[in-house]
Amino acid sequence: MPNSGNARNAHAFAVRLMEHLVVPTFVLDSERRVIIWNKACERLTGVAAAEVLGTVDHWRAFYEEPRYCLADVLALGRTEELDALYAAHSEPGEASLGLRAENWCIMPRVKKRLYLAIDAGPIYDEDGNLLAVVETLRDTTEQKLAQMALHSLAVRDGLTGLANRRSFDERLEADWLHSMREGAPLSLLLVDVDHFKLYNDTYGHQKGDSCLKAVAGALDRQVFRPADLAARYGGEEFAVIMPTTDEDGARHVAERLREAVFELNLPHSASQTADRVTLSVGIASVVPVEGMTPQELIEAADAALYRAKHRGRNRVMGRELEPA
Ligand code: GH3
Ligand code: MG
Ligand code: MG
Repeated sequence: MPNSGNARNAHAFAVRLMEHLVVPTFVLDSERRVIIWNKACERLTGVAAAEVLGTVDHWRAFYEEPRYCLADVLALGRTEELDALYAAHSEPGEASLGLRAENWCIMPRVKKRLYLAIDAGPIYDEDGNLLAVVETLRDTTEQKLAQMALHSLAVRDGLTGLANRRSFDERLEADWLHSMREGAPLSLLLVDVDHFKLYNDTYGHQKGDSCLKAVAGALDRQVFRPADLAARYGGEEFAVIMPTTDEDGARHVAERLREAVFELNLPHSASQTADRVTLSVGIASVVPVEGMTPQELIEAADAALYRAKHRGRNRVMGRELEPA
C-alpha cells in the first residue's frame, strides 16, 4: 500500500489538530469510549485526557451522578431523553445532522457551575455505520447569567423581588383561561398594608421601603405552592393568585399571611388600629366561565378589601354575606 504512510501521517495530523483545537472537544467511538479529549477540554473540565481515554467515564467531568452526555444520547439514539437531561435543546431532526443542547453543569473537578452550550455531531463510514461522535462545548455562563438578570428585571419588582405587575397581569390571564378549561376554581387575594401613609409620615420613606420589603418577604414565605403567585400589585398593595383553590382554601392562606405579618411585629405607633404594621386582605374566588373577565375577579377582591378596611383593618374578608 504505497499510501499507507501518508494515511498514517494524515491521521496523526487530524488527532493533533483536534487536540490543539481551541474549542473544548471530546470524541467517543461507536461503543461510547473516549478516544479524544483535547487540551481545551482538559482546561474547561480540569480532567486530564489520561484519566478518561479508553473509558466511558466522561460524564464525571460534568456531573456528580452518572448520566448520559449529549454524545451518548446521539450514539444511542435516545433523543426522547433530551427533555429530562437538558435545560434546553434543539428539536432532534435527522440524527445524522447532530444534536444541540444547553445545560447547567456541576463540573465537579473545577468546582464551578457552568452553563454549557453543547453540540454533538456523528461521523459515519462509507456504509453509514457510526464511527464516532464529536462533542464540542462552549462556556456560555456569562451570557446565561446576563440573560437571567435581564429576565428578572422584566418580571420582578425592583424593591421587593416579588413578581411585578406585568407578570401578575400575564399570569392572571393565563390562569383564568386554564381554570375555565378545567372548570376549576381560581382565587385572588388583594393585600393592602394598613395606614401605610401614616407609617411613611412617622418613620420616613426609607423605613417605609424597608417595611414593604419585610412584608413582601413574609408573603413570599407563606406562598410556597409552586402554582401560586405572590406579586407586588402596586405601591403598598400585594396580590396572590391561587389556581385550583376555592374560597375556603384562599381564606386559609389569607389568614396565614395576615398572621405572619402581625407576627413580624413591626412597630407602627401612628396606626389607628394596632400597635404594629398590619394587613387587610380581600378574597375573591370564581370558577371562570365564558363571558366573564379576570377584571371582575379583581373588582370582587377589591370590594372585599374595602370591606376589610371599613370593618377595622387587620382582617380578612371574602364574599359579602347575604342579609339574613
Ligand atoms: P389604608 O389603611 O386605608 O390602606 O391607608 P393607607 O395609608 O395605607 O393608604 P393610602 O392609599 O392612603 O396610602 C398608601 C401609601 O403608601 C401612600 C404612599 O406614599 C405609600 N407608598 C406607596 N408605594 C410606596 C413605596 O414604594 N415606598 C414607600 N415608602 N411608600 C409607598
Ligand atoms: Mg393602598
Ligand atoms: Mg394601605
